[in-house]
Amino acid sequence: MRENVRNNANGPLRHLICVLGDQLDRHASAFDGFDPSLDAVWMAEVREEAEHVWSSKPRIVMFLSAMRHFAASLRTEGISLYYRKIDDPENRHSFADELTLCLQHTSPHKLIITEPGEYRVKKAFTDICKRLNVPLDIRPDRSFFCTHEEFEEHASRHKQLRMEYFYREMRKRHHVLMDAEKPLGGNWNFDAQNRQVFSKKGPDISSPAISFPPDEITREVINLVQERFQSHPGILEDFNWPVSPAQAQEALGDFANNRLRQFGPYQDAMWTDQPFLYHSCLSAAMNLKLLDPREVIRQAETAFTNHLVPINSAEGFIRQVLGWREFIRGIYWRYMPGYLKMNALSAESDLPKWYWTGNTDVYCLQEVIRQTFRYGYAHHIQRLMVTGLFALLLGVRPQEVHRWYLAVYVDAVEWVELPNTLGMSQFADGGILASKPYVATGKYINRMSNYCENCHYDPNRVTGEHACPFTALYWHFLIRHARMLSKNPRMALQVRNLGRLDKQRIKEINRQAERLKTGFLSL
Ligand code: FAD
Ligand code: SF4
Repeated sequence: MRENVRNNANGPLRHLICVLGDQLDRHASAFDGFDPSLDAVWMAEVREEAEHVWSSKPRIVMFLSAMRHFAASLRTEGISLYYRKIDDPENRHSFADELTLCLQHTSPHKLIITEPGEYRVKKAFTDICKRLNVPLDIRPDRSFFCTHEEFEEHASRHKQLRMEYFYREMRKRHHVLMDAEKPLGGNWNFDAQNRQVFSKKGPDISSPAISFPPDEITREVINLVQERFQSHPGILEDFNWPVSPAQAQEALGDFANNRLRQFGPYQDAMWTDQPFLYHSCLSAAMNLKLLDPREVIRQAETAFTNHLVPINSAEGFIRQVLGWREFIRGIYWRYMPGYLKMNALSAESDLPKWYWTGNTDVYCLQEVIRQTFRYGYAHHIQRLMVTGLFALLLGVRPQEVHRWYLAVYVDAVEWVELPNTLGMSQFADGGILASKPYVATGKYINRMSNYCENCHYDPNRVTGEHACPFTALYWHFLIRHARMLSKNPRMALQVRNLGRLDKQRIKEINRQAERLKTGFLSL
């Protein structure tokens, strides 16, 4: 397991630097003051991380391949490395056990780690070091723009946390898209120009995202995952994600030059057989720390100042990275560990089994779920307004929905997945993150995509054989939660519409919804 020997290999180990699968950055704070002659790095591939949620094959390959590429770069530098491979017969397949073994073996003066992105993992490191009496130095994660203290300070000034106000402060503090104190283009937000739909002809994808065919390391990982994680969902034939900093940088340049312009207007649109459209596909690279978000924002801003893209494209994209991504992380750390258990709408249904296969006659869900298992990817509106919306309307336990999202996407790490799922998508936090539940009928999906053309349900029908399940369950959702929703001014219009239904219609909707629920949950 031990590779490359330190110059003073017989002397005591000064620092053991832990690098997790989503911390693959040689410039991370854990490496500050690193001395190859005194220090070593520890990394481990363990089954536990692929199994605590039933991870998809693309997600496992993404993490293992990126880790192995990072380890290869450390080896090239001649850094002393303790690396446990997943197929090592001596692997104990638990972080705690592997780390304990390495600490007992090396007795470092100190263990150093950049703050883990997951509460569970941070606690595990603290517990292990306490148990073994090893000093632990947890250093801040500098890849984020906003520190925990800054987020707390922001929260202390606001009765309610809302992304928009946080985002404006971030723009000012980091001088992004600013003209002195004013936002470039005259507005903070060009959201209204970010919701265009495609004509009947569909999208023009003349510059599809650059792809990264598996190299030797990735091919080896793919074979391993096929063999050892056979029963996990997903396929690997199309795996072509960037797995090293150089590839991630190339992917960023390709996006900024070729698709950022159309990302702005079409970021909410969906189309059959077009999973990526004009999206950046950079989330996994950023989350695994192959790519610095500062560089991502810099390139988007430069594209605007060089007149290559309009303001609504640059702003719309930067809002996602500097606004949503940072805000979501702030919420995670502010409300964990309690956040994990929240269930404000008392949702108690199971997740339908076909979420793990895509075998359903609901066309939009079939499309998004199959694409998810083929690429480990769905864009934001597909996650929020197709798979997420359906689970919300069906009343699925938010913790089950969370486990699904954490398992299936190549970019899934808990600090970003959990608030998006429990908060934004399932409203299980009762409005900490979003000002209202994101609910809509099938008409929304019909407007934003061509999915309904291929579906035997009708988005306009609430009851009857061909009633769209989204539309029927939407009305049922309003009926079930009318009292809570009536207190929310942003839901006033929807609740008013509910008031127009007579008792008989409400009964019909309830019956339709119960039939649908029984049907979907029995499959
Ligand atoms: P683009 O559409 O090109 O957006 C650019 C970047 O902005 C993304 O790469 C991402 O870093 C950031 N971003 C955009 N929206 C969000 C958001 N809501 N929260 C945080 N960052 C955002 N994102 C993850 O990175 N990991 C997850 O596990 C994850 N789970 C999600 C679960 C649900 C239910 C929902 C609704 C959203 C989730 N998101 C998650 C947010 C978002 O869907 C993805 O970041 C985005 O789809 C990734 O694709 P992209 O890189 O092409 O993004
Ligand atoms: Fe989805 Fe309803 Fe449209 Fe069918 S009709 S694709 S179920 S929104």
